[in-house]
Amino acid sequence: MIIVLKNAASPEQINNFTYMLENSYGVGVNRWDGIHSTVLGLIGDTTKVDIEFIDAQDIVESVKRVQEPYKKANRKFHPENTVIPINDTVTIGDGSLHIMAGPCSVESEEQIVQIARDVQQSGATLLRGGAFKPRTSPYAFQGLKSEGLDLLKAARRETGLPIVTEIMRVSHIDMFENVDIIQVGARNMQNFELLKELGKIDKPILLKRGLSSTIEEWLMSAEYIMAGGNDKVMLCERGIRTYETFTRNTLDVSAIPIIKKLSHLPVIVDPSHASGKSWLVEPLAMAAVAAGADGLIIEVHNDPPHALSDGAQSLTPKQFDTVAKKVFALKNALDQS
Ligand code: PEP
Ligand code: MN
Repeated sequence: MIIVLKNAASPEQINNFTYMLENSYGVGVNRWDGIHSTVLGLIGDTTKVDIEFIDAQDIVESVKRVQEPYKKANRKFHPENTVIPINDTVTIGDGSLHIMAGPCSVESEEQIVQIARDVQQSGATLLRGGAFKPRTSPYAFQGLKSEGLDLLKAARRETGLPIVTEIMRVSHIDMFENVDIIQVGARNMQNFELLKELGKIDKPILLKRGLSSTIEEWLMSAEYIMAGGNDKVMLCERGIRTYETFTRNTLDVSAIPIIKKLSHLPVIVDPSHASGKSWLVEPLAMAAVAAGADGLIIEVHNDPPHALSDGAQSLTPKQFDTVAKKVFALKNALDQS
C-alpha cells in the first residue's frame, strides 16, 4: 500500500502516523521524502489495513493498494490449485471436468430421480436442484423446502450422485448437513453473516458471483468463508448484469482465466443462468470449457415448458446429452493438445 502525504504534513505528524501504522497493523513502513510531499510504502500483510480510515486522516493526500485485499483466496500465497474431494469418485479442481446437472427446482420424487438417472447416463457427475428458491416475485414457486432436500437425497440414494443445493439462511445450516455441496446463490453472495457461518463448517461451498459484483468483491466473499477456516470454496460464474437485454445476464468468460490467475480456487460456470435461453447453453458451455473452467452447472428439466422455475433456460435430458458429449469431446481435445 502506498500513502502520499499532504505537503503541509509536519515531521511530528508524519512520525506519529508512522508509529500508528506500525503498531496498529503490524506492518513495516518505508519513507521517501520528496520535494513536494512524503510518500509512505507499507510492507507486510496489509489485508487488515482499513484504506478508508487511512484516506480520512488529515495528513493523507491519497492512498492506493498495490496488493489485493484477499489473502487466503490469493494465488500469490497459495500457488497450487485447490483440489476439493466431494466423494469417493468426484474431485473438483484436479484438472478433470465435472458437470452438475438437474432442474432449477426439485418438483417431485419422480421428477428428480428420473432427471438424476438421465443426466448421469449422459456423464453428469453431480446432481443440482433447488429446494429453497430465491425468486424475484414472492408469488412465484418458492421451492419444496425441506421436502425438496429429502427428495434430492432420495435421488442420491438411487444414483450415487452427490447433490448441490442452495442455502438461503443461517438457521438452515444444520438442515444442510447431509448435502454434498452447499450453493450460495448470486443474491446472497454478500450475505456476510451467512458467509461467516459457512466458514465454520467443513463442507464444500459453491459461491455464485453476485448479479453486479466485481471479481474483487466476489473474491472477498470467498475470503469471508475461508477466513473462518473453510477453504473448500468453488467460485461460480453465472453471468452479470450489463446493458444487454437479449440474454438474462452476460456470461463473463474473461472471469474464468482472471480467477485462475488471481486465485487457486476451482471455477464452475453456469451457462443456464448466464443466458436464460436453452439454445445458448451449448455455445456458452463450450466457451467456458475452452477458457479453463473446472466444471459446469446446467439446468435440465424433463418438461421445460411446464417447469415451475427457469423452464426457458432448461435443457431436456436429450438436449443435455448432446451438450455433454460436445463439452467432454472438447475437453479431451484440449487435454491432448
Ligand atoms: C439457481 O441456481 O437456480 C439460481 C437461483 O442461481 P443464481 O443464484 O445464479 O441466480
Ligand atoms: Mn434456476
